[in-house]
Amino acid sequence: MTDTPFPLVLSMTDIANFQRCRKLFHFAAVQGLNPIKHAPAVEKGLAFHEIMAHHVKSATWPDTTSEMLEVAQAYAERYPVERHSGVSVYCERPFFVEMLPDMWVRFTGDKITVAPNGVTILDYKTFSKAPTLDPDLDFQAKTYLVLAEAKWPDRGMYEFEWHHVRSELGRFLKVKGDAVWTEWSADERYLVNSMILADGERNLFHGELIACLLDIQDAFENERWYRTALKGHSPYTCGNCFYRSLCTQDAANGGNLTPDDIDRLTEPAEGRYALDDVLAQRPVGRAETKPVGCSIKWRR
Ligand code: SF4
Repeated sequence: MTDTPFPLVLSMTDIANFQRCRKLFHFAAVQGLNPIKHAPAVEKGLAFHEIMAHHVKSATWPDTTSEMLEVAQAYAERYPVERHSGVSVYCERPFFVEMLPDMWVRFTGDKITVAPNGVTILDYKTFSKAPTLDPDLDFQAKTYLVLAEAKWPDRGMYEFEWHHVRSELGRFLKVKGDAVWTEWSADERYLVNSMILADGERNLFHGELIACLLDIQDAFENERWYRTALKGHSPYTCGNCFYRSLCTQDAANGGNLTPDDIDRLTEPAEGRYALDDVLAQRPVGRAETKPVGCSIKWRR
């Protein structure tokens, strides 16, 4: 039995990780390990998020040589940031909801619009091949909607929107033997879908979220950090787990990572922050999180 580190603050990613694999949750949320992940698609997604965060906050564009700048500018032309009086737009700002005594969930949106008659949470996903929505994204979206209602009650409508943005404006196509640069059409470049839960569904999912948090509590109390059996090609396989190298090394060492393994396979992570401010009911000292790229899985 181990002391549960309450008050516990879980991010949306922590919850999604726990649902996928307890070992993954343990690496990320308990040990605080951050694996090195320098895949080009991740870098592009991160650059897009950073550029859009700058634009949403300042209505200007950052001084950057990133190829994602023109992708972001084209996107913003089609989906401009609309600002109206009485409507708040938040970007990369963390919000906290106490779902169980001493158990908080932190959520941050790429863009959250809070109006008197509705809340919309927008999530960017950059892609180069046709994306497919997968169940952990659905779980995450539903969790966002439950939290949004807890944070901003009585707003009538709660909506989650995915904006999938192709990470290139065009591609080379063969035309009579020549490779000709051809721009994607708007429909090919942007795939937008959304989710709205009916009142009853939100209540139901609220219960599911609480059950998941109780499972996490139990896992802390009884140290149940086992690897989930993951097989085949599904969103839940190990194949696209960023912690795979760490996990393999941990298994090879009989369930331990040495300081050398950690040096070699991880990079510094952002620490947990802001909870003291929230508990003391004062403004969060560091009011923003760093944008992160998406973790969407791709269909080949
Ligand atoms: S590699 Fe697989 S078993 Fe290991 S932490 Fe990731 S999802 Fe879990």
